[in-house]
Amino acid sequence: MTSNRRTFAIISHPDAGKTTLTEKLLLQGGAIHLAGEVKARGAARRARSDWMKIEQQRGISVTSSVMTFQKDGITFNLLDTPGHEDFSEDTYRTLTAVDSAIMVIDAAKGIEPQTRKLFEVCRLRSVPIITFVNKVDREGRDPFELLDEVADMLALDVSPQMWPIGMGGEFEGLLDFATETVSRPEGPSREFLGTRETDAAIPARFAEEIELARGGYPEFDLEAFRHGDLTPVYFGSALKNFGVEELIDAIARYAPPPRPQPAGEELISPERDEVTGFIFKVQANMDPNHRDRIAFMRQVSGTFKRGMKLVPSGLGKPIAVHSPILFFAQDRELADTAEAGDIIGIPNHGTLSVGDTLSEKNQIRFTGLPNFAPEILRRVQLKDPTKTKQLRKALDDLSEEGVIQVFYPEIGSQWIVGVVGQLQLEVLISRLEAEYKVEAVLEPSPFATARWIRGSEAAQRSFAEFNRPNLAKDRDGDLVFMAKSPWDVNYAAEKNPDLAFSATKER
Ligand code: GDP
Repeated sequence: MTSNRRTFAIISHPDAGKTTLTEKLLLQGGAIHLAGEVKARGAARRARSDWMKIEQQRGISVTSSVMTFQKDGITFNLLDTPGHEDFSEDTYRTLTAVDSAIMVIDAAKGIEPQTRKLFEVCRLRSVPIITFVNKVDREGRDPFELLDEVADMLALDVSPQMWPIGMGGEFEGLLDFATETVSRPEGPSREFLGTRETDAAIPARFAEEIELARGGYPEFDLEAFRHGDLTPVYFGSALKNFGVEELIDAIARYAPPPRPQPAGEELISPERDEVTGFIFKVQANMDPNHRDRIAFMRQVSGTFKRGMKLVPSGLGKPIAVHSPILFFAQDRELADTAEAGDIIGIPNHGTLSVGDTLSEKNQIRFTGLPNFAPEILRRVQLKDPTKTKQLRKALDDLSEEGVIQVFYPEIGSQWIVGVVGQLQLEVLISRLEAEYKVEAVLEPSPFATARWIRGSEAAQRSFAEFNRPNLAKDRDGDLVFMAKSPWDVNYAAEKNPDLAFSATKER
């Protein structure tokens, strides 16, 4: 039996239209009834949580959430990734929990930096990408040029499935190659209201361009798409509702159902009877008065039932999952059952960490959920030196949550935090104060980057002997090489061929 689950994310640069598209996807799925609700609901939810004030001030969402909707017998799980330029590891990790992604591009701007970074993360895991060129109702760049840019910058084959008949003021609709129908703008708002014309007359000045578009690109090839080598391209306008239905149909038809997940040498199939999953995100203190946390589990196999006992790999003994949460767009709804591909929120008090495997039998460990090499390293300086113990606890907690990475140098007492985006540092300071009553400042660190050291114990020991000032342990006690420059990393790697200096730590 093939699964009817499609678990995906939207990747884009800020302002490309992710929120608007999300809203339209949810509307199509009947999950929300009024436009604007996605942002409104987000604001209401954010208001509940103290530390998320930063989000409000900056009008951005630091944390990812999950939205579920249904259409034509398919259950779509949309995992939201923060859209701010200053993304965090949260974003990366969320992408380890999806089976496909929609890449939204602004027709006037093409591939922007954030889109590209997120795309690279998808590529690491060969996540198939559907491209949506948004805002065709406005003046945009030439579609051929846009497609070339996607192909060249991302080294992907592109296969257009639709084509805009003009753009901006000239926009006369969208031609769907598969059905030969044209969706037309209607009314004063020039929205798509559902009218699709068959045998539509294409104005002569666009006819030639469209012939070129049809003939000039590779045909859609499901295999190549599923391997992440080819992207089908849809054009549209999230704002005016063009291309949205086609996009949903594309996810339903082409996007892969839940993929098998690696656990060491093994691949765990979604068909396996045992309930298994992994934690890709932990969100703490939704309510600042309680130390509650929600761990987000991507279910890999089995049929989960409420009350079921699962063993978290980090704990070794079973916990009963009495009040799991499914994230429906309207409400957080109590889940009774969930299947492979679904996301379950598990309330807990710190027993679950990012990277943990949950399973009934405690025999497997999912691998491949990476810690990313921090690009920004800072020393943490306490304002009140008597608070060392609290600080250590806070840093351990927050690194467990994936907010930061923490490094305890072998020599000296200056603890170092590492992040991939500046925003994480602000979150850190604000949460230290709000939740741990610890005032700290961040100072420049002598190090530029960190690498996890892998190799035989003997090789690690002899390396450690000569490099102690550059060594630290992470939260789990694993050895990390702290480098002052990328050049140092290369040098160390050359001098120590029996060791690997890894930018990521697979958990
Ligand atoms: P996000 O930052 O990617 O979530 O982008 P938003 O969905 O918030 O959209 C950014 C801006 O672009 C908003 O002002 C939207 O109204 C506008 N926008 C989004 N989609 C379209 C579209 O298809 N056409 C036009 N003209 N504007 C759009």
